[in-house]
Amino acid sequence: MYSISFDVAGLVLGGVNLAMMTMRKVYPTRKNRVFEICVVLNMVSALCNVITSLAISFNNELMMSFAFLSSFVHFFSIFVMAASFYIASCIRLGSRSVDKRDAIISAIYLVINVLLLCSCFFTRFYFYFDDSFVYHTSFLYYLSLLLMVGMMVYSMMRVSKDLRGKDTFKSVCLVVYVLVYVPLCLVNGFVKGLNVFHFGTAVLYILIYIVLNNPEDYVSGSYGCFNDMAFKDSLYYHSNLNKRMHVIGISFAETDFIRSTYPDLEIAQSFKSFVEFASARFGRFNFYTIGINQFVLELKGNNSLIESTMTEIKNYFVKPLSIGGVDFVVSPLFAVVEDNEKFDSIDNMYEVLTYCMSHTDLFKQRNVLRVTTEHMSMLSHEQELVLSVTRALKSGGVKVYYQPIYNVGKGIYTTCEALVRVFDEGLGFIPPDQFIPILERNGLIVELGDVILDQVCQDFVNYDFRSLGIERVEVNLSGAQVMVPGIYKKLLGTLRKYNVPSDAIVFEITESYNNKSGEGYFLDNISKLTVNGVKLALDDFGTGYSTLIYLIELPFEIIKIDKSLLNNAMSDVKSMVLLRNTVKMLSDLNKKIVVEGVETSEEAKLLKGLGVDFFQGYLYSKAICVTDFVEFVSPQGRSGK
Ligand code: C2E
Ligand code: CA
Ligand code: CA
Repeated sequence: MYSISFDVAGLVLGGVNLAMMTMRKVYPTRKNRVFEICVVLNMVSALCNVITSLAISFNNELMMSFAFLSSFVHFFSIFVMAASFYIASCIRLGSRSVDKRDAIISAIYLVINVLLLCSCFFTRFYFYFDDSFVYHTSFLYYLSLLLMVGMMVYSMMRVSKDLRGKDTFKSVCLVVYVLVYVPLCLVNGFVKGLNVFHFGTAVLYILIYIVLNNPEDYVSGSYGCFNDMAFKDSLYYHSNLNKRMHVIGISFAETDFIRSTYPDLEIAQSFKSFVEFASARFGRFNFYTIGINQFVLELKGNNSLIESTMTEIKNYFVKPLSIGGVDFVVSPLFAVVEDNEKFDSIDNMYEVLTYCMSHTDLFKQRNVLRVTTEHMSMLSHEQELVLSVTRALKSGGVKVYYQPIYNVGKGIYTTCEALVRVFDEGLGFIPPDQFIPILERNGLIVELGDVILDQVCQDFVNYDFRSLGIERVEVNLSGAQVMVPGIYKKLLGTLRKYNVPSDAIVFEITESYNNKSGEGYFLDNISKLTVNGVKLALDDFGTGYSTLIYLIELPFEIIKIDKSLLNNAMSDVKSMVLLRNTVKMLSDLNKKIVVEGVETSEEAKLLKGLGVDFFQGYLYSKAICVTDFVEFVSPQGRSGK
């Protein structure tokens, strides 16, 4: 006689799970339907167990046939469940679609197990009732039980492996559960009367539902609408069904500015009414947020609605938005993907869409951008660059070149600027202007910066720069680096490691940093650096917008005037006035002045007349490798010190 209590508990848990799913039915895709099927089949199977158990208790021939039948259904539904669970786990994985191989694996598994099970109609190798109505299981049952447990565990391990990189906690959760689940299944199979399988599976499903498949994961906490995960799922879903669809990505030209002024949460708050409007107007299963102030709208069917939809959204934003109590007029930018079919994969399409949405310069002053495969090639070019730099970082392809800086007062080169050079076997020399902005965006600049400073310190010591008359080296620090909390410790640590005096390094910082949230760290880092004797230079002066405040508030000892100022001054009288007065103002503020981009002797003459302290440019030398640089300055090392 079975104990049915575990089965009943499993049924109840399954019911709770179903209720949870129906109540919070926010799943946009079918993958969850497969999961729902698993939950239901587990319940069906548990119910059959209960029925069998009750039927047996009647102890008569007719009820015995009934028990036989319900036992059969019980096994059958478990097998279908395990196959479905495998499919559900495949959909969770990267591909999000069930490929042929997975479908075949689950079909083979199912066929084998059902064939084994069907043997019960002709033999006593699976399960049977003996003449006194006692239920028995035989070796085929154990074989198919092991197959089934294997399938369940394999599915869980796949999901867990998939999660490992992304969410270790969830991955560990699953593995821990597998460790409980396997003995549970074995107990169920080998200990008579202890039917814990359905209960254990019901617990597993609840766990998966809450931890792994929680609908909350698909909803953006700050906006309350579906998020990027849901959007991607929906894309996969439509692509799997070969359904055509268009996507309108909505971002805002002012996002950078607003984000530099208000906390993200406050911004999200002020966009909530738009989210509500769009969800109601276009359907909440078509509207998603995929980033701060980035939304996407799916349009199914033909493309006739794209224009009117954009107009509607534009009209919505005619009235200003109140952010932090201040009224803002924001202008939506639309990145339109007409037809998902144009891209070879959903991942490609998603990537290129987000790429376009975050690169407002691609819009070129217009508010609509048709996303094409051309953008895809731009994106892959970027990715290629990142790959090359990563490769170069590993293989020593990152070199530091030095451009001598002429000290007018002393008539020798007393400084130089360290400039990074990346050589890639395939692409050849990659100009820093091309990859630095990309690395700043993806954070790799921090690692690159470490390598550069390390190299500079090594060169400074190995070639004894000071003995060559080079008092200090100017090293570029990107805004993204200075924003890293406590990075000053690492920078100073590198100097100390090579015994480089702190006044031998000048960090060049550009004035444009537009990340308000990192400002505190920025100020902390630069003040700690100066306290420790490192000098700072303000780079590219004359090209940004917050210039003057910087000059007064921040401890820049050296100002580097951008080459554009000099170039313009040579051809234009007004620009000349600007340059002359800039130099005068900086001298009055007691700043040391470096002018960049000095290419001709006329320019040098002019700058001498203005009283500029340092010249940097091709007139003297371009950036050269360290041995060339040492050779270049060595004459002054012997005579000039
Ligand atoms: P930058 O900091 O303004 O560096 C000066 C740039 O002007 C260098 O370009 C230099 O080769 C170039 N230059 C020097 N003299 C002349 C001249 O007479 N005429 C002209 N037309 N150009 C001249 P480069 O090396 O291509 O670097 C470009 C930018 O990339 C740099 O501008 C800097 O912002 C960034 N960068 C370079 N190396 C590093 C680095 O190690 N770290 C970081 N964070 N950024 C770097
Ligand atoms: Ca510089
Ligand atoms: Ca510069």
